[in-house]
Amino acid sequence: MASAVRSSVVPEDKLRSFSEHLRRSQNILALLGAGISAASGLPTFRGPGGLWRSHNPTSLATPEAFGRDPGLVWQFYSHRRHMALKAQPNAAHYALAELARKNPNFITLSQNVDGLSPRANHPDSQLHLVHGSLFDIKCNNCEYIRRNDFTDPIIPALAIPKAAPQPNPSTDDKTGAEATKALYSSMEYQSESTAEGQDLDVSDANIPIPRISPDQLPKCPDCAIGLLRPGVVWFGEMLPEDTINAVDNWIAKADKIDLVLVIGTSARVYPAAEYVLRATDKGALVCVVNMDKNDKPPVEMTDEDWFFQGDASVIVPEILREVLEKP
Ligand SMILES: [Zn+2]
Repeated sequence: MASAVRSSVVPEDKLRSFSEHLRRSQNILALLGAGISAASGLPTFRGPGGLWRSHNPTSLATPEAFGRDPGLVWQFYSHRRHMALKAQPNAAHYALAELARKNPNFITLSQNVDGLSPRANHPDSQLHLVHGSLFDIKCNNCEYIRRNDFTDPIIPALAIPKAAPQPNPSTDDKTGAEATKALYSSMEYQSESTAEGQDLDVSDANIPIPRISPDQLPKCPDCAIGLLRPGVVWFGEMLPEDTINAVDNWIAKADKIDLVLVIGTSARVYPAAEYVLRATDKGALVCVVNMDKNDKPPVEMTDEDWFFQGDASVIVPEILREVLEKP
């Protein structure tokens, strides 16, 4: 993908000055947004589309919505989980994971819930998911949380109501795939396309979202009262305290921060905006990778900083290559 333009994406002089700075950098903070996963084919928050086109995703991403109709909210998230699992981590996710293994003083704060950085084996202790993850499952009543559960669907009733089921290449969950098939065949849904990759976008106006009652949904194994729910941060909820504390402590401990990488995000919203400012206060130079040249973080950028415009999956491995290849 895009290999033909590879060498021309990053201007030679800027690549050289960045590599030199990266080589000397100890404390590095990366902020990731939807743009890094766009190259893996994942849409941004507007949601999975298709079946959900008539639903405003923001109206489903709240504790109130879950309280009102947990079955509907779970189906929305089941769909997003399925799409995220069909996507693969790209070269940018892998390059950052490798940089983390090389440099224990490098931490990444991701606003993405898509599980692509964990699936690229980014070391857990150096990856902070400020908006949680579609693949963390937690209780709405107690503190129970189960991380990196990639089962799809999480329970058979949450299979996506569409025809043309495709076994998911990302899991070996035969039981799940068979259950999905059984559910689909019992539903008599018509498919307009059976092509892999298109099945999530079948025209859906006529496909009803099945009604799923709360007693069909997974219960908490700890308290047995609560319902399990997706471990993402919903509108009106606090960001995960442990995660924020871990990043705060890392910043507080650093005498100097050398570099802040801002990848696929404008970093204009809390907490990303604040972290860019705090990093630059501690001396960090800024490197932005973004498709849109106007998508800049809320700091004054100078000639010393870097703005690499384009596809993160091409640019990130390119700018990290020299340091990653060094033994
Ligand atoms: Zn519980």
